[in-house]
Amino acid sequence: MGRYTGPVCRLCRREGVKLFLKSLRCDSPKCAIERRENQQPGMHIAKRRKSTDYGNRLREKQKVKRFYGVFERQFRRYLDIAGRSKGNTGSTLMSLLERRLDNIVHRLSFAGSKKEARQLVNHGHIRVNGKKVDVASYLVSAGDSITVKTRPRSLRAVQTNLEQLQRPVPEFLSVTKGDSPEGKVLRLPGIGDVSIPVQPALIIELLSR
Ligand code: SF4
Repeated sequence: MGRYTGPVCRLCRREGVKLFLKSLRCDSPKCAIERRENQQPGMHIAKRRKSTDYGNRLREKQKVKRFYGVFERQFRRYLDIAGRSKGNTGSTLMSLLERRLDNIVHRLSFAGSKKEARQLVNHGHIRVNGKKVDVASYLVSAGDSITVKTRPRSLRAVQTNLEQLQRPVPEFLSVTKGDSPEGKVLRLPGIGDVSIPVQPALIIELLSR
């Protein structure tokens, strides 16, 4: 299945939660979730059947996949890694997703949306510990430094986002604004650092059947 190219606000309305798939609009009163008070998309909402346990688990998985912009195969790979590692599988799964470089660039407010963050990374504008990393799924580690290529065009895009976006920086990151913006990974993220409500146990129940 290819990448979804339709209206992204529809995805938030389907999941009933802000997924922050656009930039400034997500923080404005124009946000579709706020304007339509969580009304589900589609013409036949009243005819939809009551959701089942399976349906609830599936929605939870879709919500997380859409929030991080990952495909099914990649998502299952994260679940495999989480299942093989020590500790709680759900927390590890969310930690792995949260450590993706495109997510970190977005959460540092270097980019307005995950899509923009992915583009910044894929186009080689981002440095990790001074080295170019152009793989959006790269997993950051504690102590990593995230900087921007010194080309004026790269810096301008990031500086504009840092000025305009007023989103709080999560506790596991720190950001320095100015002429050379820099983000630091202070510690590995945990499930408490995820910015949307998630119940990974439902996803694991769904995928381990
Ligand atoms: Fe649209 Fe952003 Fe609001 Fe989602 S959070 S409905 S993408 S404006």
